[in-house]
Amino acid sequence: MKHANKHIRDAIEYAQEKGWTLRPGHHAFCILYCPAGMRGGCQKSVWSTPRNPEAHARDIRREVDKCPHCDQN
Ligand SMILES: [Zn+2]
Repeated sequence: MKHANKHIRDAIEYAQEKGWTLRPGHHAFCILYCPAGMRGGCQKSVWSTPRNPEAHARDIRREVDKCPHCDQN
């Protein structure tokens, strides 16, 4: 499962490096779940065709960075 936009692909890889997992979404391209998983963890929808892919990619990274469940923090 590869996103068509490079900025967003990079952001997804960044999230995965931090231990986030990728699940297919119904309306979104996919949903990212933080290491805490679906029970009380953070999640972030990744859109297939956001109006501004670069801004969406930054938004994904920001969500990963503010996650309190990642070991690295
Ligand atoms: Zn989290």
